[in-house]
Amino acid sequence: MLSNSLIELDRAHLVHPVASYRGHEKAGVRVIASGAGATITDAAGRRLVDGFAGLWCVNAGYGQQSLVEAATRQMQELPYATGYFGLGSEPAIRLAAALAERAPGDLNHVFFTLGGSDAVDSTIRFIRYYWQAKGQPQRDQFISIEQGYHGSSTVGAGLTALPAFHAGFGVPFDWQHKIPSHYAYRNPVGDDADAIIAASLAALDAKIVEIGGPERVAAFYAEPIQGSGGVLVPPDGWMKAMCDRCRSLGILFIADEVITGFGRTGPLFACTDDGVVPDLMTTAKGLTSGYVPMGAVFLSDAVYATIADAAGTAAVGHGYTYSAHPVSAAVGLEALRLYEDGLLANGVKAGARLMAGLHALRDHPLVGDVRGRGMLAAIELVVDKERKTPLPAAAEPSRRIFDRAWDNGLVIRAFTNGVMGYAPPLCCTDDDIDAILERTARTLDQTLEDPDVR
Ligand code: PMP
Repeated sequence: MLSNSLIELDRAHLVHPVASYRGHEKAGVRVIASGAGATITDAAGRRLVDGFAGLWCVNAGYGQQSLVEAATRQMQELPYATGYFGLGSEPAIRLAAALAERAPGDLNHVFFTLGGSDAVDSTIRFIRYYWQAKGQPQRDQFISIEQGYHGSSTVGAGLTALPAFHAGFGVPFDWQHKIPSHYAYRNPVGDDADAIIAASLAALDAKIVEIGGPERVAAFYAEPIQGSGGVLVPPDGWMKAMCDRCRSLGILFIADEVITGFGRTGPLFACTDDGVVPDLMTTAKGLTSGYVPMGAVFLSDAVYATIADAAGTAAVGHGYTYSAHPVSAAVGLEALRLYEDGLLANGVKAGARLMAGLHALRDHPLVGDVRGRGMLAAIELVVDKERKTPLPAAAEPSRRIFDRAWDNGLVIRAFTNGVMGYAPPLCCTDDDIDAILERTARTLDQTLEDPDVR
């Protein structure tokens, strides 16, 4: 059988991203064969609702013919052009201009990457260059947030604050620092918005003092909503307060919008929800709806000009063979058109239905917390709501929950701490959302019946 031989080939040869290699060999791959709208079909012909849009990236949904046509047209006309040597291609220039026009404030300069990790990596290079240019090379310390995720490159993984990305890899570096997350459900100061914001500001101030003062700190990184840490939504005003504090101390503020960008929370960029204009911003995923790889770093006028003036006629030695790839850019332009032609609006409508439906599950004995914004949400499962006791780790609850949801015809993200994550395509119909909710409820009931998980 085809899928049996595929399972064997996969086991023998394909090294999967972020996987237990031995666990995966034992379980075998699940091959996804096709997709349409919010539905994927596996190699055995089973249809599932993709409640996670691949890896929070297929924002426009599967089977969008205009994206396929944009890629095809561009491949036929010009499959590749370098951006080196002063060369370029029309789609890359048009996409940069379209993004700059829509980005918050003066984020008018766009550097294209292949994805989110190299976008974050690029910010580190630009920021170091910037502070050298400013005559402040001692500003070489970087701060990010516990439970944050900023990619899996050697340097970016040190800004990431998830244990699996550190253990055995020699990161974080000693110039990479963390402050506690705003994580409202488990915050020692409780869930009051003002108290959480005050605690985060105090933690940032204390960390800056510990490092040696603001004149040592290059930049502070925040996701508008912490994604891979379990969809942790800060209180309203949190981003703005952190950004203002950084700005008052001369520290660059970086918004990592790799997940939240391109309609995930409603608008094109989530930091506009908070009235924040970062100094640099990273995006990827929804930029091309995951159809082809691409990421983008946005630089403010001031950051760009400082770097440009310092380099003068010399090259700023940072770039990739596939920076500003014309096929990815053509797809990005068409994805942007789709978002603005109705997908953003549909995402807002579908997101409201999703959030209302998830909140309706609050009374389920396992549901401790429901959180999210737009088409980005999570429910946190606990065995004791009063004490907020997590599901027993020894029972591998996330693997069980993922498998059970899958068997119920639903793809979710099951985070290690018993959190079910949702990031469906923005094209979801009411029926898609209702299927996600009904299959979630079924998965919860089955988990409740599972003696090992309780
Ligand atoms: N930053 C954030 C906030 C992310 O969520 C991710 C990926 N999930 C990345 C960076 C890295 O992106 P990529 O996997 O495309 O390298």
